[in-house]
Amino acid sequence: MSVNLLDFDAAGLTQFFTELGEKPFRAKQVLRWMHREGCDDFAQMTDVAKSLRERLSQTATISAPSMVRDSVSTDGTRKWLLDVGQSNAVETVFIPEARRGTLCVSSQAGCALDCAFCSTGKQGFNRNLTTAEIIGQLWYANRVLGAANDGEGEPGERIITNVVMMGMGEPLANFDNVVAALNLMLDDHAYGLSRRRVTVSTSGIVPAMDRLRDACPVALAVSLHASNDALRDKLVPINQKYPLAELMAACQRYLEKAPRDFVTFEYVMLEGVNDQDTHAYELLKLVRDVPCKFNLIPFNPFPNSGFERSSPERIRRFADILMREGIVTTTRKTRGDDVDAACGQLAGQVKDKSRRTERHVMQFSGGSQ
Ligand code: SAH
Ligand code: SF4
Repeated sequence: MSVNLLDFDAAGLTQFFTELGEKPFRAKQVLRWMHREGCDDFAQMTDVAKSLRERLSQTATISAPSMVRDSVSTDGTRKWLLDVGQSNAVETVFIPEARRGTLCVSSQAGCALDCAFCSTGKQGFNRNLTTAEIIGQLWYANRVLGAANDGEGEPGERIITNVVMMGMGEPLANFDNVVAALNLMLDDHAYGLSRRRVTVSTSGIVPAMDRLRDACPVALAVSLHASNDALRDKLVPINQKYPLAELMAACQRYLEKAPRDFVTFEYVMLEGVNDQDTHAYELLKLVRDVPCKFNLIPFNPFPNSGFERSSPERIRRFADILMREGIVTTTRKTRGDDVDAACGQLAGQVKDKSRRTERHVMQFSGGSQ
């Protein structure tokens, strides 16, 4: 069986070449061809010995997931549906802005955590993406957007300046593959992004937050969404396992090594559920000892969600309460919602192995488990 070289970070590729009896610098050369040049053909790797190129083409491949659909929003946001085999597809979103380009990357086909307001969660879970499938999203987007030499645009130009692990899935529930992909994003022989420009968003898997801090401290965003445990238990069920006090302590520990001196708390604005003044005041107490910024996300609707988006006035008032106490608070602009590319709308295509979809259908139809 051939080995997919996109599955390796620098350490893994070095080991692979050592096992082949090759020198470690070969790993760097091949890494640069793959990730900096966007090359997937060993024959083109001209500074690699011909005998090695031939050997690699017999034993290895460079294969990213293939694209099934490419949708472009009227605001320029672009969404790709990528086939990851066996009827599963994931979504990757590129968000161009004046001075930066952000790629939103998926980490799992579906998600097992079942947050009440999230369309990915409602689909159930199929499997973790491999490292190749995670980094393959950046590899692919870089190529299509023309940042790599094989693309349509100018070679060498950095079009993707930031990566956020905010697509489908919970990145910290697929720890090893996500960390290998993060290593590649940061590696100077691959994408060379600074730690501040790579963000992992988590719903709050506390032990994995500690592991990330030790393995690969990148910028951290935490999906808070509620100001007390009773409400968060319902909205973000993983809270039943890792309640708010533990989550806040984990954020403080993370900041000891984080590339930024704050955590970003994401907070989805759900009308009449978590968006009242009392919630904002409760939040102020909750985060008192955690240097943080808030990013309010107007809820993005999807069929049968059962939630409504808070009004702009409500969101403004909520933000004001936080800001009056000195907490930098931004409201996320909704981007790409005409192509269902906005936060929480990513559904891809998931062959649910957790049978959650079935359970939900039964709930709605009044059936019992
Ligand atoms: N699983 C990770 C990362 C992916 S979700 C996490 O939960 O953090 C990226 C962000 O979008 C999270 O903050 C998530 O809670 C939020 N989100 C999910 N569904 C949403 C919706 N329908 N509208 C707005 N934001 C949503
Ligand atoms: Fe999973 Fe994040 Fe959606 Fe929750 S919000 S179900 S953790 S993808």
